Amino acid sequence: MKDSHVNVPRKLRIEQLVPGHWACNGTVAVRALPRLAGLCTADVGAENVAVVLQAVHTPAGRTGLAGTLSGRVPLRCERCLGVFWWSFDLPIALYFAPATATGVEADGDFEACEAEDGEWLELWSLLEDEILLTIPIAPRHAAGACRTPALAV
Ligand SMILES: [Zn+2]
Repeated sequence: MKDSHVNVPRKLRIEQLVPGHWACNGTVAVRALPRLAGLCTADVGAENVAVVLQAVHTPAGRTGLAGTLSGRVPLRCERCLGVFWWSFDLPIALYFAPATATGVEADGDFEACEAEDGEWLELWSLLEDEILLTIPIAPRHAAGACRTPALAV
């Protein structure tokens, strides 16, 4: 039987991520992610991040987490200073490994995330990190869609 969650657990233990068994398909409210919400320039209301994840085996046989995060958040357009809704649809591919002195090993497209069995994984915070890593530094509307505001005389 699949251990499939409609709700995205705020945290979980690494050993719960059994490939072929653990999966989740749900949402996390943008307002529940404080660092992301802090960057929003308009009311995020009921905006949600759609989370689809499953535990998988990486190419090297490690336990990994794969799926997607999608949603949108209001940022400030650098050109017109208006609200720019940045839409994202991010692939997630992570594996979990204890910290080592030798650094990080490549494992297919999977990125290392420092954690070991018995530890609690702060899943919401981890997903928030993934969004923050790809958020545009200078968000702006498409070329021609807006213009720099005229300077007041
Ligand atoms: Zn703009």
